[in-house]
Amino acid sequence: MKKPFVTHEQLKEIVKRYETPFHLYDEKGIRENARALRDAFSWNKGFKEYFAVKATPNPSILSILKEEGCGMDCSSYTELLLSDMIGCRGEDIMFSSNATPAYEYMKARKLGAIINLDDITHIEYLEKAAGIPEKICCRFNPGGVFSISNSIMDNPGEAKYGFTRQQLTEGFLRLAELGVKAFGIHAFLASNVLSNEYYPLLARTLFTTAAELKKETGADITFINLSGGIGIPYRPEETKADIAKIGREVEKAFNEIMVPAGLSDAAIFTELGRFMLGPYGCLVSTAIHEKHIYKDYIGLDSCAADLMRPAMYGAYHHITVMGKENRPNDCKYDITGSLCENNDKFAVDRMLPKIDKGDLILIHDTGAHGYSMGYNYNGKLRSKELLLKENGDVKMIRRAETVEDYFATLKL
Ligand SMILES: *Cc1c(COP(=O)(O)O)cnc(C)c1O
Repeated sequence: MKKPFVTHEQLKEIVKRYETPFHLYDEKGIRENARALRDAFSWNKGFKEYFAVKATPNPSILSILKEEGCGMDCSSYTELLLSDMIGCRGEDIMFSSNATPAYEYMKARKLGAIINLDDITHIEYLEKAAGIPEKICCRFNPGGVFSISNSIMDNPGEAKYGFTRQQLTEGFLRLAELGVKAFGIHAFLASNVLSNEYYPLLARTLFTTAAELKKETGADITFINLSGGIGIPYRPEETKADIAKIGREVEKAFNEIMVPAGLSDAAIFTELGRFMLGPYGCLVSTAIHEKHIYKDYIGLDSCAADLMRPAMYGAYHHITVMGKENRPNDCKYDITGSLCENNDKFAVDRMLPKIDKGDLILIHDTGAHGYSMGYNYNGKLRSKELLLKENGDVKMIRRAETVEDYFATLKL
């Protein structure tokens, strides 16, 4: 059984002050998890997590992570502004973008961010747009399929990102000519992977590539960026990735490959998003309608504008009917939002306790790629965001959108 990080009593108090729907984040959980990640990689002197800002782009959340020692992984102009806003600048920013416009490179350079180039042609593009920095990273795409224990995890050969292996060699040589002194390499080969084998396997690929590149080009490789991709258990039967074990396995690979290659000073960087925030956010809604036709439907006061993952990917998000945790799951429902799109369903054929109008419905694991993916289809306005602080207080960290926000871009 999946247990929410708030109790029904707490939530009833919160709802007295803040109307549903809202995303609620758990400061305590965020901090504990960030510390567990840091501990897992404490064997590496330069270790740093660059939080993927796109997952939860709220300055209050970003500040908590910054306090826990994280940098920011940005991939757009506004994400760079968010990072700047919380005082995170210079090499505490990783700029991992693709199809990047010149003005974004200019902003990244101005802030002193570490730039992670997505393509060999971006070398020239960056040189023209903003000049080449002394430290730079290149994103590697090994092509083919990426599998763990014979099961295919993802398909890098179909992905738009990164340099080919040959392009890495050429790119490093060219960048050295242009004055680069310190290099990093990055790869993101699979997303939402629960297996403890993902990072160690990815690390082995990158470590081997780093050792080869050092030999071929003489480049000084100062960091390896393992990027994001560690998954979270969205389903109650899944188990959490064991971050301590992942850290130990990456260390083993580091000792086997990097140390003999003379790369023992290299730092390990990560750009986790989902793993850092996913479980520490939930979407709280009220059941406002009940409908019985060929199937049984419960209509919520939130919709895909607040959480798009189910509509977009058919993603599973666990649901708790608050206060009815101990009742039998003997009703089969589709739990829907109000968009004029039949895919606006948070759950399909879900077995739940009997729901009554007015029940508080908690949708789990919306802390990453939840609010941030929201949109304004059907003129729907996005919900507010609340932070449950460590001392139990609740703070609004983003108000709900208003009609004025929606109309702000119109020229009448
Ligand atoms: C989205 C993204 C991440 C974070 O991915 P998660 O699956 O949330 O861990 C990290 N790096 C880059 C470049 C990304 O695009």
